[in-house]
Order: sequence, then structure tokens, then C-alpha cells
Amino acid sequence: MGKTIAIVNQKGGVGKTTTCVNLAAALKALDRRILVCDFDPQANTTSGFGVDKTASSPSIYDVLIDDADCRKAIVPTVWADVIPSNKALAGATVEMIGMSRREYLLKDALAPFHEEYDYIFVDCPPSLELLTLNALCAADTILVPVQCEYYALEGLSDLLSTIRIVKRSLNPDIDLEGVVLTMFDGRTNLSMQVAEEVKRHFPGKVYATVIPRNVRLSEAPSHGKPVTAYDGLSRGAEAYRALAEELVEKNGYAVTRV
Ligand code: ADP
Ligand code: MG
Repeated sequence: MGKTIAIVNQKGGVGKTTTCVNLAAALKALDRRILVCDFDPQANTTSGFGVDKTASSPSIYDVLIDDADCRKAIVPTVWADVIPSNKALAGATVEMIGMSRREYLLKDALAPFHEEYDYIFVDCPPSLELLTLNALCAADTILVPVQCEYYALEGLSDLLSTIRIVKRSLNPDIDLEGVVLTMFDGRTNLSMQVAEEVKRHFPGKVYATVIPRNVRLSEAPSHGKPVTAYDGLSRGAEAYRALAEELVEKNGYAVTRV
């Protein structure tokens, strides 16, 4: 039975998409079966895997709103199977309002795939509205990337209270998978201070692996590849490989390096 992990933080630019693409690819390299659902109308995860976000093939929007077959939306890539998004998804929130089970549309769409994949990742948009609510209802756990900068903790309390509400009402089993520190710069006191503060807020939940600020991570998407394929020796690639190993070990599996 696979695990569905939503990558959530209502702040934009904190590394959700970068983490989604590169963690997924690193897990696939560990022989895990990976499905990634792009759930952000910006569709950066889609293009990050080299999938055309302007293609006419079904996207997650068509699956949610027009009842398209989710299996037909899946695009296999070398690094993960991808359910693409596109800008139409931005309008979905309004269209979903009148639908029955509107909070569970994504959960229902992903339900057939639990046996086929070890991990299903959902890359969320930077907000806490109905799309993210759908992701929180579909997810077993949430992974929160936190950027190592001054306002890092701002908004995390809103996120936590949203999760508490979801747990109470819509998805009692949801749990925190972990918190990953991103864009860490070990030369600055600020990065160190933010890391310490986040660890105080989430005892035992912050990954030992920290993602450094690394230009290769910001270049890889324009080549339509995860960093491990774009520059496998970069610090960014090494960090996401380590994060994948840590995540697998935390889920109770030994990692054998080949
Ligand atoms: P989000 O999905 O949370 O909005 P992104 O993953 O798109 O955030 O990251 C925002 C920007 O920062 C992107 O341009 C991305 O390439 C860049 N970026 C993300 N993580 C890193 C990193 N560790 N080092 C350098 N640039 C990064
Ligand atoms: Mg994003």
C-alpha cells in the first residue's frame, strides 16, 4: 500500500516544487515506484519533469472537473510518472464549489493507484484554499519545506491550524511526514538561527538532511530535468539523494546503495 505525501506550505518560493521533483526522482533512483501529481496551476512540476504543460492530453484539471480517466492523464517519464497540471486548474476552485465531495475529488481520483506506487506526491499551490484542502484530504502525510530566511516561521501556525481542522473534520488520519529546510546557507547566522528555531517548533520532525542553496537546483527546471539528471554531482543532487534515503529509512525500510 503506497503512501500519499502532500508537499505543502502556503508561502510561494520556499522550495515545494524543487523538493517535489527532486525528491521524487531520487526515490525512483532507489527503485521506488513514484507517481507525482502536479496540483499547482503554475505547473512547474509538470515542466520540471520535461512534460509539456500546454499539451492537449488530459491534465489534473480534466480529471477533477470533467471526470477524465486519471490513468489516461498519467505521463510516464524516466524519473517518475506524472499527472500534469496547467493554468486551467486556477479556475477549478470555483467550479468545484458546487460539486459533491468537493474536498475529496483528488482523493477519489488517486484511489486506484495506491497499490501501483510506493509514493504518490502532490505538489500544492501556495495557498490554503480548496485545492490544498483536496491535497490534505488525499494525503496520508504532509511534507513541509521551510526556506531558511527571516520570515520562515511566519504562516506555519496558519498551516498547522489548517491541518488540525482537517484532522478533526475531513481526514482524521493525516500526519506530519517531516519538515525539510531548504535554501540553507551555512555561511550565514540567519540560516543557522532559522534551522534551530524550526527544530524547536517541530521536535523530531525536521530532517537531518538540509537542502543547500545551489544554483544547479534552479537551473535544472529550464532543462526539463531533475537535478540528479542535470548535474548528478552537484550539492543539490547529493542533498536530495540523502533526503530520499532519510525519508525511506524513516518509513522503516533499509536503503541499499548500489
Ligand atoms: P515553491 O514551489 O515553494 O513556490 P520553488 O521550488 O518553485 O518553490 O522554488 C522557488 C525558486 O527558488 C525557484 O526558482 C527554484 O529554482 C529556486 N530554488 C528552490 N530551491 C533552491 C535551492 N535549494 N537552491 C537554489 N535555488 C532554489
Ligand atoms: Mg511550486
